[in-house]
Amino acid sequence: MDRRIDTSAELGGIDPDDIRICLDGAEGAPHVEDVTPPIAQAAIFPRRTFRGLLDALSAEHRNAVYTRGQNPTVEAVERQIAALERGEVCKCFGSGMAAIHGAFFGLLEAGDHVLFVNQIYGPALQLAQHLERFGITHDVILDLDPAAAERALRPSTRLIWFENPGTMTFRTLDVAALAALGRDRGIWTAIDNSWATPLFHKPLTLGVDLVMHAASKYIGGHSDVIAGALVGSAELMERIFYHAFLLAGGILHPFDAWLLGRGLKTLPTRMRQHQADGLAVARFLASHPKVARVHHPGLGGTLPPDLLGTSGLFAFELESADFASVERLIDGLERFRIAVSWGGTESLVISPNRGDNGDALRQQGISPGLVRLSVGLEGAEALRWDLERALEGV
Ligand SMILES: *Cc1c(COP(=O)(O)O)cnc(C)c1O
Repeated sequence: MDRRIDTSAELGGIDPDDIRICLDGAEGAPHVEDVTPPIAQAAIFPRRTFRGLLDALSAEHRNAVYTRGQNPTVEAVERQIAALERGEVCKCFGSGMAAIHGAFFGLLEAGDHVLFVNQIYGPALQLAQHLERFGITHDVILDLDPAAAERALRPSTRLIWFENPGTMTFRTLDVAALAALGRDRGIWTAIDNSWATPLFHKPLTLGVDLVMHAASKYIGGHSDVIAGALVGSAELMERIFYHAFLLAGGILHPFDAWLLGRGLKTLPTRMRQHQADGLAVARFLASHPKVARVHHPGLGGTLPPDLLGTSGLFAFELESADFASVERLIDGLERFRIAVSWGGTESLVISPNRGDNGDALRQQGISPGLVRLSVGLEGAEALRWDLERALEGV
C-alpha cells in the first residue's frame, strides 16, 4: 500500500482581509500604526478633570478607566478578534471558561433553560450543572438534525449553545439552521468557535448571536497563555459586560493580551499548516489496518457547508478499543507530547479513556478506543513515522 502523504492536501483558503487584520491590527484600534501595541501595564487611567472621569465612567465598556473593565492593550486584540469574526464588539476574558461563564451569567436568569447541541467541551457542561443551583436547567442532544433541536426546545429555552465540529467526535452540524431556529423564537444562539478559529468559521455571518473562543488554543497558538473571548452585537456585549464581566473580574491581563496579538500575526500561516498536516496525518491513519475510524471533518475531501477550512485537532479510534491498547499507543509516541489542551506548535496526544470510564464514554457516543491528536508544526512526515511505529506496538 502506498502510504505517501499528500502534503498539498489543503481544503480551505484564507480571506486576504483576515491576513491584513492579523498582521496590521484592526482599523480604529489604539496604536494601530505601530508594529506592536505598547503593553499598558497600568491598573488605572486618570483624567485631567473630575468631569472627564465621570464621563469616562458612564461608558466603562468603551473607555479605559480601570483595567478590570477596559485596557488599551486588551482593546487592541479585542478589535482584531471582532473584525475577524465580522462582529461589532469582542470582550476578552482571563480564560475560555471565564468567557463561557460570562456568557451564561450575562444572558441567563432563574427559570431559564439551555439547550446544548453536539458533543460539548466537558467543563462547559459542568458549569451548566452548577447553574442548576440557581434554577437554570439544561439538556444536551447529540442528534444533530435541526428538527431534533426544535423538538428539544422548551417554552423556557433562552439559549442554544453548540460546537461545530463537536468535541472529541468532531461531528459537524447545520449552523445556519440552528441560528434560524433560535432567531424565529427569540432564543439566543451561541457557538464555541475555538476549533476552526475565525479564519475557518464565521458563525455571526450565519446568524448566530454570540461566538466564544478559547484563545488559549490556536489564537494564542504557543501553549503559553490562557485566554478567552466573546464576540457579538454591541447590545448583547454591553449586557454581558455589565451583568457578568465587570463584576466577576475574570480579566485578560495586558501582557497576555499582547501575547494573543503576537499569536494572531502568525495565525493564518499556522492554520494553513495545521490544516494541511492534520489532513495528511488523518489520511494516513484512515488507511491503517489498526485504525477503526478517523473523526476529521475534512476527510471526505470536501468541507462541511459552514466551515471555511479545517484545523489540526481530530481523533481516531483504535481497532482494539481497550485501555491497555490506548495506553500502549500513547506511551509509544515520541513526537506527540502527552498533555491536555491543543492548538500550539507542538503535537499533542490524549484520550478520554481513563481506564475506568468505558461505559460512561459509550453512553456519550464516544468509543473507549478514541485517541485525540493535536497536529502541531513538526511536519506531517515526522508525525506519520511516529504514529506508524507506535501503532506497531499496539
Ligand atoms: C480549552 C477549551 C475551552 C476552555 O478554554 P480555557 O482557556 O482552557 O478555559 C473551551 N472550549 C473548548 C472547545 C476548549 O478546547
